Amino acid sequence: MNKTGDVFAIPLEDEAYLVYAPLHGTAFAASKGMAAQLPGVLAGGGGDESVVAFAREAGLLGEPPSPVTRREGEPSPTEVTLFLTTACNLRCTYCYASAGDAPATYMTMEVAKQGIDFVIDNARRQGAPFAGVNYHGGGEPSVHWNLMTESLAYAREQAGDLEVIAASAGNGVFSDRQIDWMIGNLNGGMSLSFDGLPEAHDKHRPTVRGTGSSSRVMHTMRRFTEAGYPYAVRLTVTAEQIPLLPDSIEFVLSNFTPKRVQVEPAYQLGRHEGEPDAETEDFIAAYREAQARAARFGHELVYSAARVGTLTNHFCGVTQDNFCLSPSGGVSACFEAFSEDNEFADVFFYGSSGPDGYTFDMDALERLRGLGVEQRSFCDGCFAKWNCAGDCYHKSLAANGRGEFAGSQRCHITRELVKDQLLTRIAGSGGLIWRDRRSGDDCSVHGGRGE
Ligand code: SF4
Ligand code: SF4
Repeated sequence: MNKTGDVFAIPLEDEAYLVYAPLHGTAFAASKGMAAQLPGVLAGGGGDESVVAFAREAGLLGEPPSPVTRREGEPSPTEVTLFLTTACNLRCTYCYASAGDAPATYMTMEVAKQGIDFVIDNARRQGAPFAGVNYHGGGEPSVHWNLMTESLAYAREQAGDLEVIAASAGNGVFSDRQIDWMIGNLNGGMSLSFDGLPEAHDKHRPTVRGTGSSSRVMHTMRRFTEAGYPYAVRLTVTAEQIPLLPDSIEFVLSNFTPKRVQVEPAYQLGRHEGEPDAETEDFIAAYREAQARAARFGHELVYSAARVGTLTNHFCGVTQDNFCLSPSGGVSACFEAFSEDNEFADVFFYGSSGPDGYTFDMDALERLRGLGVEQRSFCDGCFAKWNCAGDCYHKSLAANGRGEFAGSQRCHITRELVKDQLLTRIAGSGGLIWRDRRSGDDCSVHGGRGE
């Protein structure tokens, strides 16, 4: 791969190249000759007139804007994510949090109120259009039902005229009464975990009693669909279920109406540690077939690190003052660091609550703010850099340890899927050149509005 600035020539088959200039917002197919001349043309050294003209036409000769942003000063979040509990009514085989294995912890109303008051106050002072209240955590938020409903009622009461947008991640095993409440109150939508074909789902997502949970989740999705309620579905794929992925996608899209469908290989963390790796060539092949089926339903599947159309130096909210509260009121930036007992809590926790409000550890926060992809030498030169933005920081710690980031198997998946997205966009723009004018970060790892 050649690189001049942030213009990349990615070899394809038959001596053809895919030229991708993420910051200029363009991609096109190029011959070997053109790809060879481009670096000189971009460096101002001249070249064939036709190549210079094409580079000008493609907008490559101008200075592109930088996507790098960095927060400064005391954190002043306008959204809070409440980790309501570590208890869960399922025992998923690949649960990163091993939810249900340790004694459960539950947030109190005082902890929730303090966080809600803080973000509403910040939103008012900043003139923000809304305050956000999100539910997530190392367990199933709806299991701590009273606090979920009471905390949101409290937020809306305190906010008065200020809009509150509320969203949650969940496992979809809800009662009809809970579904009614979600449809009526979680106006930011719900992100559900559902693995597709019932047999695939039930194998890895049993209830505490060991029975399959697919029929319950499908009931929830039917209810959401009937109500026209916005929800997303996330499929987790274990190594042995990779061959089922295309049929799983077809099953979801022919029976339900999720707004987005995210697919991720299972991580070898928590209860899934030591299990076979799903981040493989087989995964890429199955994802491609699944994407072809999804396209028939007008869907583009989501894989969190392959985000053509998004230009950012932030993979997620970890580098952007994400404000998440553990059950005991500690402030974490990461959805997987949901408790002070977690292995990487020292990295992701950056504050605590007291009677006079929050105290922030600014050194810890500055270290998190400094994790943007522009700081990662391993990512320098990667054509997916401004789309992927360095991938999940928690997973890189788990995979690489605390040393310098050295990449992961996911890098190959990310680059292949970014390449696919570019080729699809070029084909959809007439086959010659794709121009994009959109940008902005949009972390989709956990679904919902949480990050
Ligand atoms: S994407 Fe990774 S680092 Fe970011 S919040 Fe989620 S688990 Fe944490
Ligand atoms: S090197 Fe890997 S983590 Fe870094 S931007 Fe590229 S794909 Fe993402």
